[in-house]
Amino acid sequence: MDFEFQLGYLRSQFTEKKFNLRRQSLAKRESYETNIGCASCGAKGKGRFTENENPVYTRGKLDRVVDDLDEGFSKNDSADEGMSCNSCESLEVRQV
Ligand SMILES: [Zn+2]
Repeated sequence: MDFEFQLGYLRSQFTEKKFNLRRQSLAKRESYETNIGCASCGAKGKGRFTENENPVYTRGKLDRVVDDLDEGFSKNDSADEGMSCNSCESLEVRQV
């Protein structure tokens, strides 16, 4: 392996690292409030969430986090959307 080649290799590694850093910083997180509803008993409320602003940079993953929910709903890790209904205990609580 000659010196020029090694230098080129190192340079490409460095550029790649810089590119990855840039990708990460482009994946901004966004907080928002939206209506939520229980599919089972029809209870309604609001929830606050944080997710990736532009999923293009995270391979389509939103990585949604439930920040806060109105009274009547609870955070619940067993539910698909991370929320459960307090009145009927359903896990079918979704953003509407
Ligand atoms: Zn319910």
